[in-house]
Amino acid sequence: MADYDIAIIGAGPAGLTAAIYTSRGGWKTAVIEKMGAGGQCALTDLIENYPGFPNGINGYELASRMQEQAEHFGAKFEFDTVGNVAKNPDGIFEIKTPYKTITARSVIIATGVSPKKLGVPGEDGFIGRGISFCATCDGAFYRGKTVAVIGGGDGAVEEAIFLTRFAEKVYIIHRRDALRATKVLQERAFNNPKIEIVWDSVVDKVNGKDALQSLDIKNVKTSNISNLEVNGMFIYIGGTPNTSAFPDVKKDDNGFIITESEMKTNIEGLFAVGDCRVKVLRQVSTAVGDGAVGADFAGKYLEETQG
Ligand code: NAP
Repeated sequence: MADYDIAIIGAGPAGLTAAIYTSRGGWKTAVIEKMGAGGQCALTDLIENYPGFPNGINGYELASRMQEQAEHFGAKFEFDTVGNVAKNPDGIFEIKTPYKTITARSVIIATGVSPKKLGVPGEDGFIGRGISFCATCDGAFYRGKTVAVIGGGDGAVEEAIFLTRFAEKVYIIHRRDALRATKVLQERAFNNPKIEIVWDSVVDKVNGKDALQSLDIKNVKTSNISNLEVNGMFIYIGGTPNTSAFPDVKKDDNGFIITESEMKTNIEGLFAVGDCRVKVLRQVSTAVGDGAVGADFAGKYLEETQG
């Protein structure tokens, strides 16, 4: 007999929503999470486009409320790192962590993405000493200072605007001549006197001694390299899916899990929801929708396979 009916791996908005649905549906549910609940959402200062909060809501608060709701219906949280998931000959999933094996009749993968690094010389040495992937966590260290934000998507632009609360000057360094971010965020950035956009440019090298001091910036059109003095750099160039623990699951070339519209993977009883799967829009609202659909079909699978 398995420990749980359903194990949900990852406690971001997709996993937490799935947990609310499965535990409320009466299924014995475990949520396995390596850090705290919330995933990338918990690192976002203000979420303005999740319905129901006209003035926006802090990402950590939203995730905490989802966790409370899942616990209210009986979901059990296990804080552990999943190394591997495989189905045994009895059709039970074995979820291996460094210290134990958790078993479940069905699994929902909701492991999200991890922020991508630039991969330029000097980067690794300054992570935590001037380089950050979380403006909400580290922005306050840069009061009155100069920072650079790398990227042109919603993440980069939203967090650049947030950083103007603290920093004197915020450069957005973007590799093209147009931002990818939604129009409303673009307008806010263009109208913010503390923000300057460095177009058609990438970071070529990171310089400093004990802490980050400057960036070598390369203009991709002219190949000119200039030096920009900054105290901090925040990298928002998208994410890499956390899917290496699922070797038998079908993925695209970038490692995102391929699912059907019911969130089914190529393995029966194994579902994937949220940012870790191939999808067109990665938002809290779409993660929540994925979680609900995945939970519903995982429940149907459990009913069909009940002995
Ligand atoms: P994203 O939308 O994938 O954008 C990544 C940005 O980084 C793009 O502008 C891309 O340039 C640039 N980039 C990628 N690789 C690069 C490299 N090696 N060097 C330099 N620049 C590079 O990622 P994101 O902004 O982190 O957002 C991820 C998802 O979360 C998106 O679906 C986004 O809509 C969502 N999100 C939503 C909100 C919100 O709605 N409030 C907030 C944050 C995130 P190109 O444009 O040239 O490709």
